[in-house]
Amino acid sequence: MSLITAENISVSLGRTPILKDINFSVETGETLAIVGETGCGKSLLCKTLLNILPQSLSVNGNIWFNIADKKRINILSSGEQILKTIRGKEIGMVFQDAFASLNPVIKCGKQISDVLAVKSKTDHRTKKSRIFSLLEIVGLADVTRIYNLYPHQLSGGMQQRMALAIALAGNPRLLIADEPSSSLDSIAQKQYLDLLNRLKHAINLTLILVTHDLDEAFAFADKMLVLYAGYTAEYGNTVDIRTAPAHPYTKALLDIYQAFRENRQPTPLPGEIPSLGNPPAGCRFHPRCYRVQPACAEQAPPKKDLSGRHYTWCFNPIE
Ligand code: SF4
Repeated sequence: MSLITAENISVSLGRTPILKDINFSVETGETLAIVGETGCGKSLLCKTLLNILPQSLSVNGNIWFNIADKKRINILSSGEQILKTIRGKEIGMVFQDAFASLNPVIKCGKQISDVLAVKSKTDHRTKKSRIFSLLEIVGLADVTRIYNLYPHQLSGGMQQRMALAIALAGNPRLLIADEPSSSLDSIAQKQYLDLLNRLKHAINLTLILVTHDLDEAFAFADKMLVLYAGYTAEYGNTVDIRTAPAHPYTKALLDIYQAFRENRQPTPLPGEIPSLGNPPAGCRFHPRCYRVQPACAEQAPPKKDLSGRHYTWCFNPIE
């Protein structure tokens, strides 16, 4: 049984669908990469998974999550009381801007301690040793000193690790990491991603990794969900998508990725990514697509099953 399953998720602002018919599932121990350009709805989807969207947005669909006693709950229809037992405990979250997610006036050790206190009642000594262990797990050296520092006294890379330690303190079954390394320099970025990869195997972490970087997706993910302007372009096994992309948008992303790897100038996609609040009718990619057909401007493309583990939404996919 999947740990988390998103069924027909749509998020609307008034009558405008911002995210439309998103479907995916993640098994325990798997990593799903949600990939797409800035503004395609990746972060909005993460917030939907935790049911923390602003009230101005309406949501349809189901998000099934297996809780510890093998029962499953629908996150979108659960009350706040149940959601409080899920957020930060069953599901941990690491945000893009680590510093903004940390409390600037509380010392690092106390911020982890507060999460541990909610999760279970333990004595001070056990709690402190667990905090030190979490700081070590995320690769922070000199844990006694860090325990007593405020977030602003840490470097950007250390703040991101600190945010990860807090997310792991609840011993979550699922970690959602929203572009966790994008604010770091390239060295800190690589170190942070190596850390996530080690943790994935060491503690059998189930991970939803949001990224605009295909290198990260290929290095980590068992599955990929490629989003374009709030719609799914392609979903499935990472190897299948990497070797045989079926959607023209995925193919364009891969061509750009390959050009950078070969130190060539990439050919940019024509046009611009549309606003989520005012998307084009039909296939949202049609104004930029070289394989466009008359139907593409009129109807949303249907789902096409390519292999039972690889799907695209396109009238004229690449065979
Ligand atoms: S549905 Fe049409 S416009 Fe959209 S990606 Fe496929 S071919 Fe291109």
